[in-house]
Amino acid sequence: MRRQPQTCIFVLGGKMAAAEPDMEPASAPCSEFLNFSAKDTAARWLTAVDLQQDVFRHLAVYVPRILCLGPTGVNSREEQREELACQLLLLAPLEWLLLGEEPAAGLARLQENNQPSPLCGHVFKVGEPTYSCRECAADPTCVLCMQCFLGSVHKDHRYRMTTSGGGGFCDCGDSEAWKKGPYCQKHTPTDTSRDTEEDPVAQLPADVVARCFSIFSIMLRYAVDLLTWDQEDELPAGLKPPDRADTFYCMLFNDEVHTYEQVIYTLQKAVNCSQKEAVSFATTVDREGRKSVRYGDFQFCEQAKSIIVRNTGRQSKPLRVQVMHSSVVAHQCFALKTLTWLGQIIQYSDGLRRILCQVGLQQGPEGENSSLVDRLMLNDSKMWKGARNIYHQLLMNSLLMDLEYKKIFAIQFAKNYRRLQTDFMEDDHERVVSVTSLSVQLFTVPTMARMLMVEQNLMSTIIRTFVDHLRHRDLQGRFQFDRYTAQQAFKFGRVQSLIGDLKYVLISRPSEWTNQLRLKFLEGLDAFLELLKCMQGMDPVVRQVGQHIEMEPEWEAAFTLQMKLTPIISMIQEWCCTDEHVLIEAYRRCLSALSQCHSGLPDGEQPISLSLAGHCVETFRYQVSQEKVSIHLPVCRLLAGLHVLLSRTEVASRVPEQLPLGELSPPLLIELPLRCLVLCAQVHAGMWRRNGFSLINQIYYYHNVKCRVEMFDKDINMLQVGASMMDPNHFLMIVMSRFELFHIFSSADVRKRYREANKDVVQQNNTLIEEMLHLIIMVIGERYVSGVGQVAPFDEVRREIIHQLSIRRMAHSELVKALPENGNKETGLERVIDSVASFKEPGVTGRGLYELRPEWNKHFNLYFHHYSRADQSKAEEAQRKLRRQNGEDTALPPPPLPPLSSLFASLVNLLQCDMLLAIEGAVLQWAVEPSGGGWTESMLQRVLHLVGMALLEEQQQLENSSIDDDIVTFNYTCKITRPGESPSPSGSVLALLESLQNAPHLEVHKDMITWILKMVTNIKTMRERTSATSSYTMSPGAGQEETVRDRDKAERKRKAEMARLRREKIMAQMSEMQKHFINENKELFQQSLEELEASTSTAAHSSSPGLVPTCVSQVCVGPRRVGGADQRQLVTCILCQEEQEVKGHGRAMVLAAFVQRSTVLSKNRHRSLPNPERYDPVFQHPDLSLGIYTASCGHIMHATCWQRYFEAVQVKEQRRQQRLRGHTSYDVENGEFLCPLCECLSNTVIPLLPSTPSPDNSVDHPSLEAWINTTNQQIATLHSAYRRQTDGAAEEAEPEAPEGFRVDFTPQSSFSSSISEMINTFSLSTYKVTLKLNPNDADPRVPVLSWFTCAYTIQSIERLLMDEDKPLFGSLPCRQDDCLSSLTRFSSACWTAAPLKTTHTHFFRLFKALVPDSQDENTPCVIDIDMLHLLVYTVLSYSSVKSLDQCGRSGVDSAHLHILHLIIVAHMVQILLTSTTEDVCMDQDSEGSEEEELTCRLYDTLRKHLGSALPEVTSGWQLWHCVKAAILPFLRAAALFFHYLNSTAPPADLLVAGPGQWEALCSYLSLPCNLLQVYQSQHTLMELLIHRWCCHPGVKRSLQGGGVIVRFPRESNRLIDLPEDYSVLIYQASSFTCPRSGGDKSRAPTLCLVCGAMLCSQSYCCQTEVDGEDVGACTAHTFTCGAGLGLFLRVRESQVLFVAGKSKGCFYPPPYLDNYGETDQGLKRGNPLHLCRERYRKIERLWRQHGIAEVIGHAQEANHTLITIDWQHL
Ligand SMILES: [Zn+2]
Ligand SMILES: [Zn+2]
Ligand SMILES: [Zn+2]
Ligand SMILES: [Zn+2]
Ligand SMILES: [Zn+2]
Ligand SMILES: [Zn+2]
Ligand SMILES: [Zn+2]
Repeated sequence: MRRQPQTCIFVLGGKMAAAEPDMEPASAPCSEFLNFSAKDTAARWLTAVDLQQDVFRHLAVYVPRILCLGPTGVNSREEQREELACQLLLLAPLEWLLLGEEPAAGLARLQENNQPSPLCGHVFKVGEPTYSCRECAADPTCVLCMQCFLGSVHKDHRYRMTTSGGGGFCDCGDSEAWKKGPYCQKHTPTDTSRDTEEDPVAQLPADVVARCFSIFSIMLRYAVDLLTWDQEDELPAGLKPPDRADTFYCMLFNDEVHTYEQVIYTLQKAVNCSQKEAVSFATTVDREGRKSVRYGDFQFCEQAKSIIVRNTGRQSKPLRVQVMHSSVVAHQCFALKTLTWLGQIIQYSDGLRRILCQVGLQQGPEGENSSLVDRLMLNDSKMWKGARNIYHQLLMNSLLMDLEYKKIFAIQFAKNYRRLQTDFMEDDHERVVSVTSLSVQLFTVPTMARMLMVEQNLMSTIIRTFVDHLRHRDLQGRFQFDRYTAQQAFKFGRVQSLIGDLKYVLISRPSEWTNQLRLKFLEGLDAFLELLKCMQGMDPVVRQVGQHIEMEPEWEAAFTLQMKLTPIISMIQEWCCTDEHVLIEAYRRCLSALSQCHSGLPDGEQPISLSLAGHCVETFRYQVSQEKVSIHLPVCRLLAGLHVLLSRTEVASRVPEQLPLGELSPPLLIELPLRCLVLCAQVHAGMWRRNGFSLINQIYYYHNVKCRVEMFDKDINMLQVGASMMDPNHFLMIVMSRFELFHIFSSADVRKRYREANKDVVQQNNTLIEEMLHLIIMVIGERYVSGVGQVAPFDEVRREIIHQLSIRRMAHSELVKALPENGNKETGLERVIDSVASFKEPGVTGRGLYELRPEWNKHFNLYFHHYSRADQSKAEEAQRKLRRQNGEDTALPPPPLPPLSSLFASLVNLLQCDMLLAIEGAVLQWAVEPSGGGWTESMLQRVLHLVGMALLEEQQQLENSSIDDDIVTFNYTCKITRPGESPSPSGSVLALLESLQNAPHLEVHKDMITWILKMVTNIKTMRERTSATSSYTMSPGAGQEETVRDRDKAERKRKAEMARLRREKIMAQMSEMQKHFINENKELFQQSLEELEASTSTAAHSSSPGLVPTCVSQVCVGPRRVGGADQRQLVTCILCQEEQEVKGHGRAMVLAAFVQRSTVLSKNRHRSLPNPERYDPVFQHPDLSLGIYTASCGHIMHATCWQRYFEAVQVKEQRRQQRLRGHTSYDVENGEFLCPLCECLSNTVIPLLPSTPSPDNSVDHPSLEAWINTTNQQIATLHSAYRRQTDGAAEEAEPEAPEGFRVDFTPQSSFSSSISEMINTFSLSTYKVTLKLNPNDADPRVPVLSWFTCAYTIQSIERLLMDEDKPLFGSLPCRQDDCLSSLTRFSSACWTAAPLKTTHTHFFRLFKALVPDSQDENTPCVIDIDMLHLLVYTVLSYSSVKSLDQCGRSGVDSAHLHILHLIIVAHMVQILLTSTTEDVCMDQDSEGSEEEELTCRLYDTLRKHLGSALPEVTSGWQLWHCVKAAILPFLRAAALFFHYLNSTAPPADLLVAGPGQWEALCSYLSLPCNLLQVYQSQHTLMELLIHRWCCHPGVKRSLQGGGVIVRFPRESNRLIDLPEDYSVLIYQASSFTCPRSGGDKSRAPTLCLVCGAMLCSQSYCCQTEVDGEDVGACTAHTFTCGAGLGLFLRVRESQVLFVAGKSKGCFYPPPYLDNYGETDQGLKRGNPLHLCRERYRKIERLWRQHGIAEVIGHAQEANHTLITIDWQHL
């Protein structure tokens, strides 16, 4: 079945379970089984007359009883019992019989005596890593398992790593598979190893051998009979159960047509099961291939069957369902168990394995192809998936592991090949579960492939089978794929696997040929030529004129075929070139095939004769633009390839008499390739526009690296072949004629006429001329094919790389993509790359790049034949720029070329033939006039290039000619001095060039023309020298030339230097201006985008107000605090650009902000998310399992401007949703929007508030005790007032209110209504995000949650700064600074938006935790409170109480200091209670200091209260250090909090990292350096409080081990450690099984980077319901692990996945790089990958900075396809 989330396939299986619970189980294994004796049974069988009959009788009785248990469901206990019963009752007697003794002992003995073959044979699980050595593997299918690889020599070689698709086994120990190092350490043969030739059966005792034969025959036959059994209600003879109970199963089978959804839906209807059960059935069907879905009587099952068939048969073939008798199913089950058992038994002994092989392959009574193995194979496509998997596994364990029988099996396989493939075509299962997939195991063994080719004619068989299955032909017998149906397309897909088999057979070339092999190979070649003939000329096109074509013709099928065959064609050529005889014969046959294709080619075409400049040639009339033309010419191209091979192997020169060269007609040879090339030219010229995209795509692939080797490249070769055998003038005349340009060059007035004609035609012709010149350049200049030019393959690859790198720097993978691959996935790149390029390392982003070394620039050829037009112009630009930078001239002359092979030597004559000179002359003549559309620059450039090539050729020939040589025949310099002949009666080419040299309209070409003229002079001097004197002194001409060049160079250098100086001056001026600008617009600049990018710029920004250290003793809390408040704060709205002062009563200004849940600091990921209705946020547990983090991009707007903007976004979104119904990257309904300036994801705004006023120095500072008393009184007063309000009149003694404290006072709001509204907005957003509830401003928790996010954000940032070793102040980027400051000020004011009573009640509770009066279980104990949260909440809620105090005698600041003191003591108590200080005696230098003494005293107090719950610690030094380290994070966070609350500048010591932090921190917080003094100075009071804290029952409970104890300092969370080598991860993931579907391998194992959990992602089996929606394992996990946010590594894909909520996610590059500095997302390239720690740290930092959601937002904005992915299904 098809899977929905991604198109995977689904199916059903072997294990029984039925849905109907009200049927009685047939009969359970009961006590009689216990009395059963396997030994006795075996003894009885030993004496049996007919063993098979006795065994069958036994099976007939027991199998249905054990394996027909009815509706057992998916119950693992039942399964285990069943398993056990099978072993004891059915298999054990067989084992006894086989071994003649107790099985365990017998098997151990067998194993001991076994001398195993050195093959590893480990069968790969799905997803397991496999390794292949790129240097030593015989072919890429040779792989090693991880263990073998690590123990092999290849781990130090260049290797590839891939993940197995399942099936296949380790090739360790197979000497044919490896050129070197075939054995790993474990499998290296030792002296005791058996000689492979020896028969392992001979080592077994004779009686065992005999019994083994009969048992294996009986059991294997039994299994085969039942698996191939096709009756639903009957059993084979001898197996009829003695007491037949008529129960049935309704068995559902897998297919690849129906989707999971369809099956699940149908099952729910048909068998009345729950959705969950249906999913489980469907999953099993997918995995096993079949599954019983109902158990009961025949009618009952039949009814379900008909519903299923009816329901699924509407649109397609219905699902296959069978009602089967339960005993049939039971025996089939046991048959599978038997096969598994056989597979296990033979592992103990190679002898047993050999016997099983013999039994399996023994011919049956029906003769040919009747062995048991044959029967299995031939029934393969009828079996269900589970059965196939099991018997394939057995084949691999037995036949494929036995070298002798592997051959016999291979022969059987080859004999049945056609039939198996035909079955596979009809079967709808994937290939991995088809027996045909075994071909890779057999055909890739070179000796085996060769043997099968010779004995079974395998090559021809494969090709003929292939051709037979492709039945779509046109009238000429060519393939025709248009209008083919989906069914045919499916078949076409299947048939392609045959090409894969052919590839295996041909993958290794023979080193020696026998006559038989020659014969069979050539026979195969004949079959192959038949195939190519069907392709020759397929999909012809005709130019569409007038109307555009109506329907795009089908083209992909033909190209798919071409693409698949490309490596085969190349391999056939490689085979041919290893044997002279084969090559000659192949050439003959190919030629005759081609002439068959050509027959009829010239017929009906009118012969014409062309003449020009005294040359005359016969050809026929044919125009590409008017007649049929096809891109597919595989026969021609194969011939071209073979022709080149004749030259490479020198067969052509050694035995020319054996070659049919005389039969060749060069004009015919070039005809079809030329047409094809002209077609491309015409398409470029825009003449085929009306033929649509199908043609454009074909042309694209024709040149593409995947096809070009056997398409475009070979066409060029064929033209070279033709041209080398023809008169060059004739060749060019035919070319001109096919380009439909002959008339233009043949008479002058035609040209004139045509210039006046239609502009389109002029342009068309210009392009065609350009294309033709380019083609001529390629025919003469493309010599980097061994055989055409005198080059080695090394040169070929090097040239490709040089030209790729001439475009720009490239990454390794880009280069690989640009090169054609061979069978070994090798491009030859590695051998070459270091010789031409240097490597640039990748940074934290980006990838490693190669850069061409400058000395190779001179090899650059602008007309390199593999450049696309875009490549060409990019390369040209890059090269000119480079030359200008180096101060060189910008001419791009042709590079020096390698010499041609002798067979192609005459190609150079094209350069100096009359026809080319005429063309050159004509173009140069046109160029004299400035262009008016009559010629183009590219045309001229190409002509100049051709002239340059000719001159280089002449120079080269002159240099190489020795003195005695006859005169160099190539004399271009002489020819170009001749004046032009008619029809262009102009000056000579040389004269024209000289006159063009200074033409103003040809400035760009000046350098090139100059280069040409210099060459001419140079060559003339050389000629004079060689003809005049034979001395080889340096010619003065050359010397002079040198000096001229030097002078030129010097002049250019000077100019370049001047230019550089000028540039520098300008740059300096600009940067000056910039600085000025920045100073003037500081505010603006700080908010600029760039600043955002550098997220943690460390530059201390002195500009921010309040940060300048002003005096020595800065204090931020308490009556001595220093306020920095009185500065006016001016900000600018990013929307309306107006400036505005931040004031309490002014227009509200807001900061865009994003509030999110966070678990980054969590110390307890097992705690589930709070129930939103009952969650009490007043006390935070120190495990910080959930936090609320607020971030901002720092962009400020007017509240009104923002509201208008947000409304506009909403409206736009509504309209868009109506239209497109898609998602966006942000969720407007949840208040999300993108910051209008920087597009940062935001979901609310924080109001900007003015800072706290400076402290009033006139008031008193009451003592702690006094303050506590007053506060207690105030609380009591409020309490009774509130009670009065609720209870009505209940009169009570009113407690005495403290002086000036007025319960009925209503404080005046200090904020304007717009600010109040914004305070409310932010409070409610926080509420909504935290609780996922609808906003409710009556909920008393609203203000607490605002304090919550303030405290948590400060805490997170403190951790970040600590972990990154940054100073506490001054290192935050200003957006974070602004965010914290506005967040804190907002939090201090948010109580004003809530009813006073609410805040008061919160304060009462918080205060009670610090100053407990009686035992109260509602208040958590001191161990279970996070102290920073307590501090922030208490300080901020106190304001609401203080606001009623009108006496004005004490300030709020004293209270803050008292609260801080109380909490510090509480925290120290908390730390001491939870510390695990073991009494390690450390040397102490000093006498116990005061701190240490006091700490000891405090600890003793605690022990007094709690006794033995606390360990004894005597070292005060240790205790004090423990306290100091543990309390530091709290002090730092508190300092941040008061800093932002009171705007106090921090002391200088805290602006830098370094020593003195502790002292500075304490003094900033108005604390003594010896914190214990806080406790000591109020000793009595504190002792009392400590007593009360310790008495809380929670303390004892926790210390005795109830719940998680958090210890201080809390360690920062990190992402999990990842292994250095990626394959370790793959290996781990491959053994990971889906936790839900009983041991099944997970398809998409995914690792949570936060907690290390492995998940079964993207799969039905592991979907869970979250808030009423089914989500995949990853999304579900994020809700338990990351509060909705998750970071994962998808192991199979090598991809990092970020998800946020249910609908958002993105992929991120993984932190693994290969040696070329690149990631491998999707694991496609297979290079070894290693962890890049910097990149991993970057991801970790992103997470700890709460930046993931923002990354997702940006990614989705940048790439809208990400929005359409169903992230929740991952
Ligand atoms: Zn292995
Ligand atoms: Zn091995
Ligand atoms: Zn190797
Ligand atoms: Zn504004
Ligand atoms: Zn912004
Ligand atoms: Zn699963
Ligand atoms: Zn996790």
